[in-house]
Amino acid sequence: MAKDSQFVSQIADIETDFPQWYSDVVLKTKLVDYGPVKGTMVIRPYGYAIWENIQKELDKRFKETGHENAYFPLLIPMSFMTKESEHVEGFAPEVAVVTHAGGEKLAEPLCIRPTSETIIGTMYAKWIQSYRDLPVLMNQWANVMRWEKTTRPFLRTSEFLWQEGHTVHATEEEAMEETMKMLGVYEEFARTCLAMPVLTGRKTEKEKFAGAVATFGMEAMMHDGKSLQAGTSHYLGQNFSKAFDIKFLDKDGTQKYAYTTSWGVSTRLIGAIIMTHGDQRGLVLPPVVAPVQVVIVPIAAKKPGVAEACAELKVRLEKAGIRVVLDDSDNSPGWKFNEWEMKGVPVRIELGPRDLEAGKMLCARRDNHEKTELALSEAEEGVKALLSDIQRNMYERAKERMESRIVTAGSLDELLSGVNGGNFVRAGWCGCRECEDKVKEFAQATARVFAKEDTEKTCVVCGKPAAHTVIFARAY
Ligand code: ZN
Repeated sequence: MAKDSQFVSQIADIETDFPQWYSDVVLKTKLVDYGPVKGTMVIRPYGYAIWENIQKELDKRFKETGHENAYFPLLIPMSFMTKESEHVEGFAPEVAVVTHAGGEKLAEPLCIRPTSETIIGTMYAKWIQSYRDLPVLMNQWANVMRWEKTTRPFLRTSEFLWQEGHTVHATEEEAMEETMKMLGVYEEFARTCLAMPVLTGRKTEKEKFAGAVATFGMEAMMHDGKSLQAGTSHYLGQNFSKAFDIKFLDKDGTQKYAYTTSWGVSTRLIGAIIMTHGDQRGLVLPPVVAPVQVVIVPIAAKKPGVAEACAELKVRLEKAGIRVVLDDSDNSPGWKFNEWEMKGVPVRIELGPRDLEAGKMLCARRDNHEKTELALSEAEEGVKALLSDIQRNMYERAKERMESRIVTAGSLDELLSGVNGGNFVRAGWCGCRECEDKVKEFAQATARVFAKEDTEKTCVVCGKPAAHTVIFARAY
C-alpha cells in the first residue's frame, strides 16, 4: 500500500486545492500540454481521442436532425465583423488580427474567426434567393481563436476546437423551434454520453451571445460547486439577416429577411467531464467517450497460458466493439493499476493463473471501486453490461449531487452563503441590470440560466416583484 499512497500524493488534494488537482490531472494523464504561445494548448492523443468520441456522437445527432457539415475559411475580412454592432462590440476585445502577409501590409486587416456568423452570413446571403432554398441547416467542425487573458487547458484557451451550427429559416417560429431542438440535443448528449446532468434555460441579456435576440445555455455543476457553461444555442432573430442581407422571395411574392440561429459546444466539454466525475485518484471517464474502456492486466504473466489468455481475451473484446488495451509492459501490476486508474479507464480486468483455472476474470470498476468476477466464457456480454451500468451509475451519482446542492435564497446574505458552500442558488430577480450586477459584486456569482419554473416572488436584491427565478452560481 505504500506504493499507492506515494502515487496518490503526486496529485494535489481534490478537496483543498481543486485548481491544482485539475492541472495535475490534465498533465499527468497526458490529455494536454501547454503550447509555446501563452494561452494555447496542445491536445495530446489521449485527450484528442475523447474529442473524437464526442464528435462522433454529436455528429450522428446533427445528421439525424437534418444538418449537413461544411467548412468556411479561418480568415474573415475586418469589415464583416463590424456589420452587426452588438457582435463587434462583444468580440472586439478578444479578436486576433492579421495585418501582414506575404511580406506586405494587407489592404484590409483580416481577423481570425472568433466565431463564424459573419462569414457564414455573407455566404448565405449569396446562396439564398427563394423560400425554396430554406431552411438551411449547416454545421462546421473547426478551430476558433479568442484572445483570453487568463487561460486554463480545455476551459479557456485562446484557440479551441468546436462545432458551430448555423441555420436559416423562413419564420420566427421555425427558428425558435430549431434553437430549442438543438439545446435539447445537447442536453440528451450530455446526459447519455457524458453522464453529465445539466440545467438548461434562457440566459439574461447580460450573459447572452453578442448579437443574439436570446441565448439558451446548459450549465453543469463541477466538483467544487462552480458552474460550467457547457453549450449554448442562440436565437438570432433577424439581427444577422439584416446586417448581412439574408433575404428570400416568399410564397406571397414579397422579399423577406430570414431568421437565423447558431449553436455550439467545444473542447471545453472535456474539462467538464474531468471536473464532474474526477476523484482523488484522477480521471473517471464515462464509458461512451472513454478512449480506452477496458484495460487487461495480466497477473503472474510469466506463468504458462496467462499471456496467451490475455491476448485472446483482448481480441474477443475488440471484436465485440469494445475499446480495449492489454498492458503487457514489464511494470508491476500495482503500478499498472494506479496508472490506468489515474487515466480513468472504466473497467480493469485482472487475469492470472488462478482465474484461468476457475474460468473467471476479475473486473474492477473505476466509478465505485467495486470488484466483480465474471465468467470468461461470457466476457463480451459481461463487460458490455458492466460498462452500461457504470455509465448509468455515473450519471445518477452526478445528478443526485447536483440536485442536493441547489439551494434557495431569499436575501443577498443567503445567496452569498449558498455559493460559498459550493451550491447553485435559486433566487428571484426583478429583471434589472443593477440587481444582476449587485449579485456579482456582493457574491462573485452570475446568473447562469432562468429556472424552469418561476417559484420566487421577490427579487433577491431589491425586494421588488420577481420577473424570473434565476439560478445563480460562481462560474468557470
Ligand atoms: Zn431587483
